Parts: sequence; C-alpha cells; structure tokens
Amino acid sequence: MKNSIYRSLVALTLTFVIITAAFTHSGGVAAAKDPKSTITHATTQYDDPYADFRNVRYSNAGLLSETEELKLGAQLHREVTKKFNLTDAGLARVDRLGQRCARSGLRPNLTYKFHVIQSREINGFSLPGGHIYITTALIRIANDNELGGVICHEVGHVVARHSLRTLKKSKEYDDIANSLGDLTGVAGSIARDLGVALGKMGGALMLTVHSRDEEREADFLGVRSMPGAGLDPEGMITMFQKLLRMEEQNSDLLGSLFSDHPDAQERIDNTRYEIARMKRR
Ligand SMILES: [Zn+2]
Repeated sequence: MKNSIYRSLVALTLTFVIITAAFTHSGGVAAAKDPKSTITHATTQYDDPYADFRNVRYSNAGLLSETEELKLGAQLHREVTKKFNLTDAGLARVDRLGQRCARSGLRPNLTYKFHVIQSREINGFSLPGGHIYITTALIRIANDNELGGVICHEVGHVVARHSLRTLKKSKEYDDIANSLGDLTGVAGSIARDLGVALGKMGGALMLTVHSRDEEREADFLGVRSMPGAGLDPEGMITMFQKLLRMEEQNSDLLGSLFSDHPDAQERIDNTRYEIARMKRR
C-alpha cells in the first residue's frame, strides 16, 4: 500500500518535471532566441493542408500493373479522339512544358503523351498511362508558368494513379482487368471486351472525375514539381486567380478542371502555404 502511494508520488513528480521542462523549452529559451521559428513550426504541425500526402510512395501495387495501365490508356485515348477534335495548335508548347513537369515529378520514367483539344471550354484532364489533355482555350489564356502549373497538376493525377483508384472501385473493374490481362485473346477482342466494360462504366471520361482530396493531392504534387521543371510556382496561384475571375464572369466556359475542384480561394491559400514552405527549405 505504502509502496504504491510512493510510486504514484514519484510518477507525479516526474510528470511535473517533464511538463516544467517542456514549458521552459518552448516558452523560454527557444522563443527568446527566435520567436518566428517557433511560430512557423507550430503552424506546419497543425495547419498543414497537405499533411496526408507527404512521404507517400506511389506505385501500381494493388492496382492494374503498369503494362495493363498502358494498354488501358491507349484504348481510352482512342475513345477521346472519337469524342474530341485533337489539334497541333499549341501542341509544341504543351509538350515542351509537359515533358519538364513529367521529368520533375515522382513518376519520371513513364512516357507521357500530351494532347491539345480544340475547344472554347477552359479545361485539362488526364487518363491512365500518362495521357494528358489541354484545351486550346486554356492555352490561350495562360502564360508558361500558369500553363505549366495546370500540366504539373495533371501529371500529379498520373503520379498518384487517381484514375486507376477510381476504376478499382467500379463494378466493372474485374471485367476490365480480365480483358487487359487476357494475353491469349484474339487480336481485336481485347479492345472489344474492354470497350464494352468501359461503356458500362460510363466511358473514358468517368475516370477524369476526381474527389476533393485527389485534387488537393494533385495540387500538392504539381506545385512541388514546378521549381524542378524550371517553372515559377507562383504561376499556379495566378492561374487560379484568372479562373476565379472567369468563373464570376462566364462560368460555362470553365470545364471540370475548375468546377469539380475544391474552393478556389482554398486552393490559392494552400498553394501559398506550400510555396512558403518550399522557400524555407
Ligand atoms: Zn485535377
């Protein structure tokens, strides 16, 4: 009995010592030396909008293999070419910026294919296998840093395999995986089976719709890869600001690039946060 009271007392005393030490450390010495660093440290710990995405290791594990992903991407691209008018206008510029984003991202060994869609809608999207699409209207309104910001964001979706994750959750996943994995299939039958399964799912563009968290993750991966691509990450902010102004004026010109995405002001704030953080390191 006595023994246990004694142990409690020791424990209490120890707790007190630890609390006092912690208090002295955070409130005293550290703050007096450099109050700013203590404050910013607290901010990164509690308000980091990208906390979930740091140190993630991306791979195809648990999803379609990369070979299957490439086959699927080729098939989906064929569907896109039937639905949209692809053009060479601006393609050299998109490809030049795109290859830089691709090399600077976390999936640099994939062969990315950039495409331009003739459209008055301001939009961009990506598909499995590294196919990335940008509309002529978007190209027209954006400078290189802004266009690069959108492309690096789309590369981010490819890095994080967002479309493959969406596909995995769909009822048609088994049919699609089976037709992609069927190496003994007669030429043409894979594409036909795949086409039927994708049709049931709602088509290629189903895979371009992303959740808010996926958008946030693509923003994070995008802005992080911009300096390495030789781009000013501020371009991502001015792009959001341009889109925000256009949304107020004529929102039907904005495609899913913007309308499906998290609140514009939140994206601007998060991007500012990350740029400040990158500058500190
Ligand atoms: Zn996106």
